[in-house]
Amino acid sequence: MSVIDRPDTIAERLDDKALFRTDSFIGGEWVAGDATTEVFNPANGQVIAEVADVGEAGAIKAVAAATAAFETWKKVSPFERSKILMKWNQLILEAQSDLAKLITLEMGKTYREAHGEVVYGASFVEWSAEEAKRIHGETLDTPFPGSRGWTIRQPVGVVGCITPWNFPVAMITRKCAPALAAGCTMVIKPAPETPLSALALAELAKRAGFPDGVVNVICGDAPAIGGVLTSSPDVRMVGFTGSTAVGKLLMKQAASTVKRVALELGGNAPFIVMDDADIEKAADGIIASKFRVSGQTCVSANRLIVQPKVADQLVAALEARISKLKPGDGFASDSDLGPLIHMGAVERVDALVQQAREAGAKIVTGGKRLDSELGGSFYAPTLIDGGTAAMDVACNEIFGPIASIYRVETEEDIIKLANDTPYGLAAYIYTRDVGRVHRLSEGIEYGMIGINAPMVGAASTPFGGMKESGIGREGGKWGVEEFTELKYVLLGGVD
Ligand code: ADP
Repeated sequence: MSVIDRPDTIAERLDDKALFRTDSFIGGEWVAGDATTEVFNPANGQVIAEVADVGEAGAIKAVAAATAAFETWKKVSPFERSKILMKWNQLILEAQSDLAKLITLEMGKTYREAHGEVVYGASFVEWSAEEAKRIHGETLDTPFPGSRGWTIRQPVGVVGCITPWNFPVAMITRKCAPALAAGCTMVIKPAPETPLSALALAELAKRAGFPDGVVNVICGDAPAIGGVLTSSPDVRMVGFTGSTAVGKLLMKQAASTVKRVALELGGNAPFIVMDDADIEKAADGIIASKFRVSGQTCVSANRLIVQPKVADQLVAALEARISKLKPGDGFASDSDLGPLIHMGAVERVDALVQQAREAGAKIVTGGKRLDSELGGSFYAPTLIDGGTAAMDVACNEIFGPIASIYRVETEEDIIKLANDTPYGLAAYIYTRDVGRVHRLSEGIEYGMIGINAPMVGAASTPFGGMKESGIGREGGKWGVEEFTELKYVLLGGVD
C-alpha cells in the first residue's frame, strides 16, 4: 500500500477527513509491518493516521538496503548528487502547502509556522546541494624528503538518523541533506508523533531521483529500531535529535561498535537582558524566541535573566504582548500558538508552573491549562516573575509557553547563573555595550549565541551545543564535514 502517494492531493484528503494509512519506505518500496501505530492531531485529540510498525525486522531490512545502495551512491559524482538534491529541494518547495498541512495536522504548530519550517527545512537541502561540489581535501607539506601528502574526504557510510516531533521536516533535512551530499545513505526513524511529514519527504526523495535504498524511512518501536541502528556494524554513524536521556542511551549503545555519533540534545537557554538594552526590542525578541512553536524548541528562551533596573519595564512590555497571543487550532488564521504535542506535555508544564507558584514566584499572566476550554492539549501563554535558580522551571527544559524572569544584578552573577546547568545549546544577550558583548559571549558556555537577535539558526551556520546539549554541528560546511571521513595519503619518493 502506498502512503503519501500523492503529496499534491493531501489537501483533498484532509478535506475528506480520510484516515491516512501508511507503510514504511525501504529500498525504494512501501513496506507494511506486523502492527500499526496511531497518530493524533494534538489540536483535538482525533486519530488522523495509522502507521505501519516495521520494528526490528524493518530496521534490519532498511540497513541492508542502505548498505547495498552505499556501494553505488558513494561513487556517484558530487555534481550528480548535487542535481538530485536540487530537485528534492524544488519538489519540497512545490509541495510547501501540503507539507505544511501535514506538519500542522500531526504536530500542531500554526500553519504559518509550518510554512516557515518547510522553507527552513528546504534551505538545508539547497545548501547541501551546493556544498556537495565543494567537499574536498587539501595538499600537505611533510617532513619526508621527496614526498607529497594530501587529504581526501569520503562519506562515512550508512547513517542512522533518529528525529523528534517538534520540526518534523527540518530535523530530517538538516541531517539527511548534508549526509546525502557527502555520499552517505540513510535510515531515518522519525518520531512516532510525526511520521507523515517524514514519509512525504521520502516520497519526494524518490521522485527527485535518489536511487532505491539511498533514503529509507522506517516507523515503529523506537528502542527496537534504535537497537539495530546503534549496534549494526554496517551503520557507521548515528545522528540524533531529541532528549538528553535518549541521547545518552544511544551513545552508550553506539560504544560497542565505536560508532560516530552526532547528538543534538536538550537546552536551557538563558535570555540575558542587560540594563542598557533596548527593552522594547528585547521584549519582541523574547516573544519570538519563547513562544515560537508554543515554546517547543530546543533553542527556546528558558530563563529570562534580567538586570533589576529594567526588570519592571520588561515585565510590563512582555505582559502587554503575551496578553495579545491567541492559542488555538493551528489551521485557524488568527491562532498565534498551537497546542502542545500531547496531554502529557500539558501536565508537565503545569506542574512546573504550580511548583514555581508554591515556591513564591508571581504568575503575572496565564498559568493555566486550556485543554477543556479549547478541546486539545493547549496551555495558556504564561509569564512568571520572581523566579529563583532552585525552582523546577529554572532547572528543566520547559518545552512549553512559559517565560520566567530571574532578576540578577552583576555581570559575574549573570554568567554564573547562565552556566548553572548541564546544558549549553543556545543563549541570547540583549545589550548595546560592546564590552558586555565580548565578556558575556566569551563567559557563557553555549554553542550558539544571539546578540540582540532571537533566532540564530540558518543553513549556512553551525548549529549545536556544548556540555550535555550534544556533540557535533549541523549546518554550513561543518554540517557536511560531520558525515565525512578525513583520509590522509602520503606518496613517498617522487623526486
Ligand atoms: P521526546 O521526549 O521529546 O519525544 P525523545 O528523546 O524521547 O524526545 O524522542 C526523540 C526521538 O527518539 C523519537 O524519534 C523517539 O521515537 C526516539 N527514541 C525514544 N526512545 C528511544 C530509544 N530507546 N531508542 C531509539 N530511539 C528512541
